[in-house]
Amino acid sequence: MLINALNDALRRLQAARVALKPPTLAVYSQLRYYHVMDTPANPSPPSEPKNPPLRPRPQPFKQPDTTAAEQPESQSQPETKRRPANSVFRYLQVTLIVAALLATLFTAWTPSGLMPGGLEQFQIVTPVVNSPITGVPTATERPKPRIGIIAGHWSKDAEGYDPGAVCPDALGATKEVDVNYNVAIRVQQQLNTQGYEVDIFQEWDNRLSIYQAMALIAIHTDSCEFINAEATGFKIAPTSANTISTRLAACLQDRYAQATQLTIHPGITPDMTSYHAFNEIHNETPAAIIELGFLNRDHEILTQRPDVLAAGIINGILCFVRNEPIATATPSPTP
Ligand SMILES: [Zn+2]
Repeated sequence: MLINALNDALRRLQAARVALKPPTLAVYSQLRYYHVMDTPANPSPPSEPKNPPLRPRPQPFKQPDTTAAEQPESQSQPETKRRPANSVFRYLQVTLIVAALLATLFTAWTPSGLMPGGLEQFQIVTPVVNSPITGVPTATERPKPRIGIIAGHWSKDAEGYDPGAVCPDALGATKEVDVNYNVAIRVQQQLNTQGYEVDIFQEWDNRLSIYQAMALIAIHTDSCEFINAEATGFKIAPTSANTISTRLAACLQDRYAQATQLTIHPGITPDMTSYHAFNEIHNETPAAIIELGFLNRDHEILTQRPDVLAAGIINGILCFVRNEPIATATPSPTP
């Protein structure tokens, strides 16, 4: 089959050559002659203007007589007129030959390829799309993991805000809100450097409405008053809106105890379990509230070592989002 096709192509080529009459071939050789003569002998003069006058349009091909072809140096026609016409013809000629060859090969190829029964081997199996809108994610940039931090009692509006606990002068007139904010801002800065997007919220913040994130932590601190000798340590309560929050609370409790050496204090209050933000955020957002310590007995670490407190919270968040094991036993308060 292929040999037949090639023979056919050869016949067509021969036919094409017959069609090219001697004068045409002479022109072709003449054209080559000009190329050889032109290239080294007539370089463009350096003083040639940037915008030379337009060349005359290529004339329709006119077969020159054989004498002219054999003696190009005595050519009366100016070269600038002849060359474009010849070039055009040359390209036309080559194109026609290539086209004839390709057409021949194609017609020789198709009968076997398109034989009935032989078609299925060329079938392209297209995937069957059952339903075009089945939540296929679009190629968008992956957002940074998002963490929310509520700086307890913090408000940008100075008017009528509740600073939380306010200690007497004997305890440095410490305000709870300052302790909470100092820790919150450190958590934000350090999680930012690890590639997290961290939102710092005021106590009452419209952005908390249906807030979605990998985790939300509300930071508060316990009372300045001396309650009793056991009034030391931290407390953590998860939201009851979802079960994953208990894991967040467990991570926080473990890592915060490690970092601060504070003990867990029993006595979770309804203020914690019914924390207002738990009802505002999206019910699938893992959330917990932490009381960092007591401003009375834990005053020093709360006011002097905010980096240590922040490290405990950061490690707790990372434990949760990275699903790290909680190896150490939870320290229990001494009876
Ligand atoms: Zn508070």
